[in-house]
Amino acid sequence: MKPAPFTHHRPETVEETVELLADLEDVELLAGNQSLGIVMANRLATPDHLVDLNGLEELQYVEETDDGVRIGAMTRHRTLERSDPLAELVPMLPEAAEQIAGPSVRNQGTIGGSIGEADPAGNYPAALVALDGVLHLRSAEESREVTADDYFIAYMFTDLREEELIEAVTVPTDPFPPERTGMAFLELKRAAQTWPTVSAATAVRVDDPSADDPVLEEVRIALANAADIPLRVPDAEDVLEGEPLSEAGLAEAAEIVTDAVTPEGEMHADRDYKEEVAGEYAKRSLETSYERAIDAETN
Ligand SMILES: Cc1cc2nc3c(=O)[nH]c(=O)nc-3n(C[C@H](O)[C@H](O)[C@H](O)COP(=O)(O)OP(=O)(O)OC[C@H]3O[C@@H](n4cnc5c(N)ncnc54)[C@H](O)[C@@H]3O)c2cc1C
Repeated sequence: MKPAPFTHHRPETVEETVELLADLEDVELLAGNQSLGIVMANRLATPDHLVDLNGLEELQYVEETDDGVRIGAMTRHRTLERSDPLAELVPMLPEAAEQIAGPSVRNQGTIGGSIGEADPAGNYPAALVALDGVLHLRSAEESREVTADDYFIAYMFTDLREEELIEAVTVPTDPFPPERTGMAFLELKRAAQTWPTVSAATAVRVDDPSADDPVLEEVRIALANAADIPLRVPDAEDVLEGEPLSEAGLAEAAEIVTDAVTPEGEMHADRDYKEEVAGEYAKRSLETSYERAIDAETN
């Protein structure tokens, strides 16, 4: 099937874009077109107007700020995957990016599109919830900031208003100094081009990587495709903080994760299986994060 007829707009600036959003009725924004195209071709979305963001070069960047990193909404997955500042400061994001589908999707798809789509199986949504990411939203009237935690409200339903554009994402780096931090983004998926069955995003900061048993000072755990929103599990983080990582701690955290998730069953993965995988993948991702934190000093 082909999309229903629509009027195509291609603004060159953010200013122009938010004016269009304020003036037009029944609009969809077009970013990398890796999800919207399919939805429109199946006529599940039939907007009267398509506002194409691909002329907005000002939204394609990764930059270091005083207290973190800022990523423009039109930055492609491929750019995140290959970004040196992100590899150093927020390695969870390149690791999440490189596991999205195949090269053609990664060359086109954008971080803003992924957040706009808000699929709970998405890689960045879980990573941003784990890392206390902040979304910068802009309309003709105002600019506002919403934490990733507050943004995802229900299944593919968010705090984004009709007249708003996602302009950028920031991730604070203060809690995670590279020399004492390890992060991991671990996916279970059946084939490279499919969405994951479950993913675990974890980050840890230790007190002293050269100690015999470094103590976990800060732990973050979030799951993708394990609930109707990207799910952070603070109770599992709490049982690990203040101690070195141990088998007993990992087992307890995994059990808490398994109890916390509320996944939908799928054709090849029923609900019980996904609950178990969520606990197991959180555990494996934590082990990797801890190893990386211990190795961080020598890298
Ligand atoms: C085969 C395949 C496998 C995939 N596997 C994965 C995977 O494993 N993990 C994963 O995370 N993703 C996966 N994806 C999704 C991919 O990452 C998409 O690129 C992404 O979800 C949508 O980004 P996009 O830039 O293509 O957005 P588009 O498809 O252009 O837009 C998606 C939605 O976001 C809105 N939007 C876009 N930009 C903005 C903005 N700046 N502000 C507000 N709203 C905006 C649009 O209006 C639209 O509703 C897969 C896609 C395919 C085709």
